[in-house]
Amino acid sequence: MGRKRTVKMGGGADNIIMKIVETVADLKKLRDKMPGPVGFVPTMGYLHQGHLVLVRQARAENASVAVSIFVNPTQFGPKEDFRQYPRDPERDLALLEGEGTDVVFMPPVEEIYPPGFSKWVEVGRLSRRLEGASRPGHFRGVATVVARLFDLVRPDRAYFGQKDAQQLLVIKKMVADLALGLEIVAVPTVREADGLAMSSRNTYLNPEEREQALVLYQALTLAQRLYSDGEKDAAAIRQKMTALIQKQPLADIDYVSIADAETLEELAEVKPPALVSMAVRIGKTRLIDNIVVG
Ligand code: AMP
Repeated sequence: MGRKRTVKMGGGADNIIMKIVETVADLKKLRDKMPGPVGFVPTMGYLHQGHLVLVRQARAENASVAVSIFVNPTQFGPKEDFRQYPRDPERDLALLEGEGTDVVFMPPVEEIYPPGFSKWVEVGRLSRRLEGASRPGHFRGVATVVARLFDLVRPDRAYFGQKDAQQLLVIKKMVADLALGLEIVAVPTVREADGLAMSSRNTYLNPEEREQALVLYQALTLAQRLYSDGEKDAAAIRQKMTALIQKQPLADIDYVSIADAETLEELAEVKPPALVSMAVRIGKTRLIDNIVVG
């Protein structure tokens, strides 16, 4: 059933066996043998430290850890980067092995979306704001694949990054609405030493773009500073953030938002907890980042 990899953990005599499965049938067989609680980390692969922090937390809190690697076509728009999205499964597997992962599920597209697949999960209002407004259908794809993965993996806990704050809210809402009965654990954003949020898409950036990409974090830091200094007018903060971002010649703003951190409704007056978030294109690469001010 699937592939197995063995790694000897430093110093100790323990042999940890990580199982790699590619089909729903194999996953189901394996799942029945996994000791609970089961922690699950869904990813699109091309793993970095941001992903690995989720895996580490899942490892610390559960008897078994499952990770999925699946570049989900239905969450990409027709003009988006599904085809170019970076992939390096062998490197991902080595990293996951190092974190003591028990099971890696890396299905081909037809395993998740068999021919004639027609069961979609749509999360209402929350899905239509911010990322949802810029990327129509994105959260329908996200909610559908995550629901499908939850159904297969049957985790007790699933781990999601605050880096994708709206995704986290959409998944929490889906879990509540469908009474899926698992815990969604939010993990803080992991950043590079200079503040850039880690992302698989950072690999698209050339050196000049990488430098200018730092403006996202600088704008978030500016928002936090203005708020801490007493500025409560959201429009004023947004305007200063926008001006800062526009100083970078390669930056093109998609949105800059200051919204209620639960409903995602735009705020006129900043009241904590407020989600300050943005999507900015640096050259051709669309990056997102956020902080919660309060
Ligand atoms: P992705 O592979 O981009 O779909 O991400 C898989 C999971 O890792 C999602 O829950 C993301 O929010 C999370 N993640 C991605 N980047 C980071 C980061 N820099 N810090 C924390 N979590 C992250």
